[in-house]
Amino acid sequence: MSELELIQVDILYTGMGLPIRSGAVVVGGQTIAAAGDFDTLHAQYPQAEQGRTVNVISPLPVNAHAHLDMSDYAFRALPYFQWIPEVVIAGRLSRGLAGARKGLEQVRASGAAALGDIVWPGTPEVMAWLLTEAEMSGVAYWEVLDPNPATANATFTQVVQDVARFRPLERPGGMRLGLSPHAAHTVSHKLHRLLAAFTRRENLPLQIHVAEHPSELELFASGTGPLAESFAKMVQFSSPGLTLPEVLGRAPDPKLTPVSYLADLGVLDARPTLIHLVNVTDDDIRTVAQSGANVVTCPRSNANLQCGTFRWTDFVAAGVDVALGTDSVASGETLNIFDEIAAARRIHADLDPRLIVRAAVKGGHRVLGSKAPFLRRGEAWDERFVWPSA
Ligand SMILES: [Zn+2]
Repeated sequence: MSELELIQVDILYTGMGLPIRSGAVVVGGQTIAAAGDFDTLHAQYPQAEQGRTVNVISPLPVNAHAHLDMSDYAFRALPYFQWIPEVVIAGRLSRGLAGARKGLEQVRASGAAALGDIVWPGTPEVMAWLLTEAEMSGVAYWEVLDPNPATANATFTQVVQDVARFRPLERPGGMRLGLSPHAAHTVSHKLHRLLAAFTRRENLPLQIHVAEHPSELELFASGTGPLAESFAKMVQFSSPGLTLPEVLGRAPDPKLTPVSYLADLGVLDARPTLIHLVNVTDDDIRTVAQSGANVVTCPRSNANLQCGTFRWTDFVAAGVDVALGTDSVASGETLNIFDEIAAARRIHADLDPRLIVRAAVKGGHRVLGSKAPFLRRGEAWDERFVWPSA
């Protein structure tokens, strides 16, 4: 008979239902003999050697939102509207396969089970590598950026061609192709509609950055503020004379929010995953809940770019599935999902930590369309199920 070890755990998530407090896992010969309530298992397995007490045991967590191709950037904390031009755009020459490879190593070393990664269209070699070679499952979202409605049809035609070129590269167990219209305001209304209809038809997973910084609300409400100003400057390089009402297909309006704008365009009908959603109204939260869209929160990135704090409790109360992502190293500091979880526990100190555990595992799998394995009798035991101590 093999030796049994009973591991006591503060929070146990078996992948089913809600995580429980004061749990235990009984392990024998690299196999799970039982997982459940501590008192029950302690009584059922008197012969088991009571070993460690650990903080959390769960299936491996998921990093639901990253930008691997930015892994050669240096971390820099700046307000979001300044960070986009001064960090992301200024550093674009450092984007590419070398950074993506380095980033994936960090994601793998952190013990993430799967990854949602945004791929910049300037580095198509990263997409080809992710789909054909990268040792990771999840979704690689091909990013689309074009605020000019005059070029929406041409850009859309190109995206359709890109999808036709990339999709045959998918392999079982590897990454799947998805699309990411970059943000509510950096893709024209016309292109948003075309992409939403296309992703529904093609059943492509979708991620969009939405309501990241308070200045994004201001852009939609009045067309003023620091993001509206920096966006207007950027747009003039590629599309001189293009105005915000032309981009949005309507005038800014105090009742308009990034979420209501996307809902009006039919984008939420494509069940996208919405990234960030920090600056939202109560109506926005209801709209997101009704649409069935998932949400990914990136607590460190939001703090570092002065975006505010995600209304986690309100989203959970509305029945929205929340996942966790690191974002890029340029705003999130590292690609280690456990660093993000630790920050989430610090920043959301009032939130039941079991919700954070569930978000990191099941929320992430929901976003990526995969399933968390269950920790139950007969399944293989993996030491990585024990979370690093916080
Ligand atoms: Zn992002």
